[in-house]
Amino acid sequence: MSRVYNFSAGPAVLPEEVLQEAADEMLDYRGSGMSVMEMSHRSKTYDTIIKEAEQDLRDVMNIPDNYKVLFLQGGAHLQFAMIPMNLMKNRKAGYIVTGQWAKKAFNEAKIYGEAVELASSADKTFSYIPDCSDLPITDDMDYVYICENNTIYGTKYKTLPNTKGKVLVSDVSSCFLSEPIDVTKYGVIYGGVQKNIGPAGVVIVIIREDLIPEECLPGTPTMMKYKTHADADSLYNTPPAYGIYICGKVFKWIKKMGGLEVMQKRNQEKAKILYDFLDSSELFKGTVVPEDRSLMNVPFVTGSEELDAKFIKEATAAGFVSLKGHRTVGGMRASIYNAMPKEGVEKLVAFMKEFEANNK
Ligand SMILES: *Cc1c(COP(=O)(O)O)cnc(C)c1O
Repeated sequence: MSRVYNFSAGPAVLPEEVLQEAADEMLDYRGSGMSVMEMSHRSKTYDTIIKEAEQDLRDVMNIPDNYKVLFLQGGAHLQFAMIPMNLMKNRKAGYIVTGQWAKKAFNEAKIYGEAVELASSADKTFSYIPDCSDLPITDDMDYVYICENNTIYGTKYKTLPNTKGKVLVSDVSSCFLSEPIDVTKYGVIYGGVQKNIGPAGVVIVIIREDLIPEECLPGTPTMMKYKTHADADSLYNTPPAYGIYICGKVFKWIKKMGGLEVMQKRNQEKAKILYDFLDSSELFKGTVVPEDRSLMNVPFVTGSEELDAKFIKEATAAGFVSLKGHRTVGGMRASIYNAMPKEGVEKLVAFMKEFEANNK
């Protein structure tokens, strides 16, 4: 067996021991005589799996009792629509546009009501987070929406926006469980799990109970009402059962590692190794202003498309894979999620140093 260092932005690297455990349980899950994939989602065995997953996530994130945890499908993209359909009572909401994912959510919301762009960093290719201390938020807005970690551009909010009392909705797809957060500061926290938690196909929504409406916008399908899933404990229809099982294992892995404080410390150490090198290198440069740098996604360039391509090719051959930047940005991007070992980042930097020396 030979595992590479996988710097993919998503689907992305998972903890090896989680994968090994899942492999060991593949044919016979704990004496059930079947795989979790083959199991009724109404069975007692599966019920324990999903309940434990929820409880472990609650423990890890310190989620208060007045928040519901929903395991849904449709990726982050379906939430771009579900959020306005469920929350846009006044048909008006504010969006902070810090990259492609925020922009897509913003455009989707326009289908349902008035989506107002409160701030944007499009003027400098989304390389920074705008000042969000005094945004033009009006009283009739139902919520303020952010994408907390911008996977493509490598920026991250270091302080949450001043929402002037409005509900904060946050897409945390690419920073989910990367550090401790105060759940009570948010109305809705959601993310696709394929970046930092598990296999694609599961999206987790953490929503304050009083925000789950009895009535959504007219025409909202049953499957797109938060209430449908909240009332059924995420078992209204067949959930992405196997994916949730893997997520549950990752929650246990995080617990075992020491929780989100430890994750944050590890992530800070890893990111520092890479950013320190980028700041000292004469060839490679980071593309984000230092104060808004993401701990999870690190974009960088050489300044020459030819050298970028050469680097990606040689890195791939050396076992550092999926370093190509997003197709809309170019250059390189190293995604260094929770499951990327420090050693992977150290070896990548050693490889970059060598490449720099050879390409002076
Ligand atoms: C990947 C990503 C998305 C899109 O996720 P899908 O599951 O493909 O819909 C949205 N937001 C962020 C922050 C992402 O990183």
